[in-house]
Amino acid sequence: MAKIEVLEKYAKHVVEVGANVQKGQFVSVSSSTETKEIARLIVKAAYNAGAKRVEVQWSDNYVARSSYDSMSIEALEEIPEWSIEKAKYFIKENGCIINITSPIPGLNAGVDPKKMQASGVARMRAFKFYQDHMMGNHAQWTVVAAPNSVWAKKVFPDLNEGEAIEALWDAILQASRVTETNDPIEEWAKHNKSMLAHNKVLNDYNFDTLHFTNSLGTDLHVKLVENHIWAGGGEDSSKGVYFNPNIPTEENFTMPHKYGVNGKVVSTKPLNYQGNLIEDFWLEFKDGKVVDFDAGKNKETLNSLLETDEGSKYLGEVALISYDSPISNSGILFLNTLFDENASCHLALGRAYPMNVVGGTTMTEEELKKANSNQSMVHVDFMFGNEDMQIEGTLKDGKKVTIFKDGDFVI
Ligand code: ZN
Ligand code: ZN
Repeated sequence: MAKIEVLEKYAKHVVEVGANVQKGQFVSVSSSTETKEIARLIVKAAYNAGAKRVEVQWSDNYVARSSYDSMSIEALEEIPEWSIEKAKYFIKENGCIINITSPIPGLNAGVDPKKMQASGVARMRAFKFYQDHMMGNHAQWTVVAAPNSVWAKKVFPDLNEGEAIEALWDAILQASRVTETNDPIEEWAKHNKSMLAHNKVLNDYNFDTLHFTNSLGTDLHVKLVENHIWAGGGEDSSKGVYFNPNIPTEENFTMPHKYGVNGKVVSTKPLNYQGNLIEDFWLEFKDGKVVDFDAGKNKETLNSLLETDEGSKYLGEVALISYDSPISNSGILFLNTLFDENASCHLALGRAYPMNVVGGTTMTEEELKKANSNQSMVHVDFMFGNEDMQIEGTLKDGKKVTIFKDGDFVI
């Protein structure tokens, strides 16, 4: 099979399994100029699936870097009215979103963190309604990835540029369960079934607290909210359309109690945030809040993430992934959260997903707060799983259950 045919297969998979584009639906594709080839194939596949209209929101990382370098903070904070109108129109039209991520690790090294912070906060404030809409699953959305040359060379430094791009494509396709010979739709259905089985076991236990320990110094107690729901794999939009928010995905995740996290967590993979790689970091929590932290590299970026708002110092997600799982077993450090988070147990700083608590998607912000669900403008996953992670769950009656032994699920 020629490469183009595999990429067409991937595009179809993204449209039909990821977003599950419906006949007559409006579709918005976000793509960087680095990934225009796959964006074009995805547009075609969306029309083949019956989309009414497909719009591509193009961005360019180098243009963004120039803006950070040359614009004033005040100018960066200005959000054009038309861009807000566009997002509103999109919601009104019941559009679904396909986001092709292709980050360039390290591109924003040296940018004044105050500028990135200010522009990020302004954007998040202005588009909060849009984030509410998506995180509440009011329409289908999916995040997928495609390589760019800088990213590929960082992941495969020993290969030349062309080979590195090829290798990264192969790794992405493999992780997404799209191969030359398989039927990815069937593969994905099988995969979702096993994810659902894990969700069911975890939901049946209805744990009060999870206790994570490993040899790197992680010793963390995470209380879960009352009536939490373990999710993972496909989801239903509030309009009843089944979709897969992430391709790939290997995680079972739920909602931590905003004020119930205590102890220390040590990261096991670098975190690419705003174009900077935060490396070798740890966080210490007291009653849910980060009270101390350090990083071997880019501590400043971590600090700026934590300082975003009140909720960015609290957790909004806890996710379990066996060390013995496909992306982890590939041994590739992707330097991209979409992949690295699916190779490792992770936590997210910031906002919780409303669907992780019973009735959450129809709750107001006040009701979610009362349910001890964290609110924030950010949601940033970071990885802390490793090969000797132990997780012990405490049930409501105080009984203990071993969930992970030596890095893997044992329930
Ligand atoms: Zn997650
Ligand atoms: Zn997350």
